[in-house]
Amino acid sequence: MDQFDRAQKLEQMHRDRAINAAKRRPSQQQPMVIDGIRVCIDCLDDIQIARLKHIPDAVRCISCQQDYERRNVQ
Ligand SMILES: [Zn+2]
Repeated sequence: MDQFDRAQKLEQMHRDRAINAAKRRPSQQQPMVIDGIRVCIDCLDDIQIARLKHIPDAVRCISCQQDYERRNVQ
């Protein structure tokens, strides 16, 4: 294994670890479903289908998620 392979392997390992950590986030909340429709846990609006396709475990609509992330920076 040359240096490049090793570096690539290391990078892959870091990425896997980051993905696993993200999946196991303790703050992750359960999605809320009302009448079969996934709704935002903050404003109870429907979560856009396009958003759910990108982020299947999204629990907030885009604007609430942005607010949430802004509040939780540092
Ligand atoms: Zn919302």
